[in-house]
Amino acid sequence: MPKTGIIYHDDYLKHETGGHPERKERLIATMGLLKKSKALEKLMCITPKRATTEQIGWVHDAPYIEMIQALCQSGGGMLDPDTVLSQDSYEVAVLAAGGVINAVEAVMNDLKSVFALIRPPGHHAEASHGMGFCIFNNVAIATRYAQKQYKVKKILIVDWDVHHGNGTQNIFYDDASVLYFSIHQSPFYPGTGSMDEIGADDGKGFTVNVPLPGGIGDAGYVYVFNEILIPIALEFRPELVLISAGQDAHFADPIGGMSLTAEGFGHIAGIVRSIANSTCKGRIVAALEGGYDLSALPYSVLSILNAFGDLGIDIKEPMPVPSALKDEVSSRVRQRVKEVKEAQKEYWGVL
Ligand SMILES: [Zn+2]
Repeated sequence: MPKTGIIYHDDYLKHETGGHPERKERLIATMGLLKKSKALEKLMCITPKRATTEQIGWVHDAPYIEMIQALCQSGGGMLDPDTVLSQDSYEVAVLAAGGVINAVEAVMNDLKSVFALIRPPGHHAEASHGMGFCIFNNVAIATRYAQKQYKVKKILIVDWDVHHGNGTQNIFYDDASVLYFSIHQSPFYPGTGSMDEIGADDGKGFTVNVPLPGGIGDAGYVYVFNEILIPIALEFRPELVLISAGQDAHFADPIGGMSLTAEGFGHIAGIVRSIANSTCKGRIVAALEGGYDLSALPYSVLSILNAFGDLGIDIKEPMPVPSALKDEVSSRVRQRVKEVKEAQKEYWGVL
């Protein structure tokens, strides 16, 4: 029986956004490649169920949830200048949150790792407002579910989307039971995620931000994961790992500019897998966030699943890799790692 799975439902295509970068073709192309590469045959495919209003309410304010429902019932509209709602968007957003909940359920029972191929994404969504293509914070809701349903005491959230996950950070900012680690491009949307944002009150040290200049590439990411994420995560010892898996750091992405390759996503997924193997029986849930190039996203997701489930697939880039991509760690990355360690060393003995 496969130990790695995916969450997918055709209803995720019903969140209609027109010509917006966050569009249904992202999932159509990704599922297409999973079929074509025969990865799908080696994965457990799980059909998600809707989250309940109560579950959404663990993270979001009731008036906000009601406003989204009402706006969709009246035909949809713009939630903010970046975020489109169509008639079915409320139902799809509830199914997206439910998908990550079902992924947690699966890894707490039979499976080791699950990638939830959901949309709309979630990590920018705050308790009382959506933004940046996000309606409900899927990963935050699933984190609360793991705490309530399975009494999981310590959860690590790794957010490798090219944007900072302001919503997730704020929801758990004073919470020592959730370690939020984000590596992101800076300066960039949404403008949060400086390395001085380390958490508040009991949660100090449990928010770890690594903002980086564009173009640092695979080697830079692997260096940051090795130098900061691995030591802190091993000291924290999570009982479950969630990933805000946005693949908009790929070199071909029209929005992000971090110059990762699909193979590079496999490397960082492998690092997170090794953390989960040594701390929490390999339990990992990855939830789709960004990733907007319709060729790069499917290959990046395939590469991540390959790393999670030892699928034995030879990962190729879907387009030529620019010769200018860095295969070494720049001095700016080394300097930033030093600064982040300095900002966090009071809270982590290992640093
Ligand atoms: Zn993003």
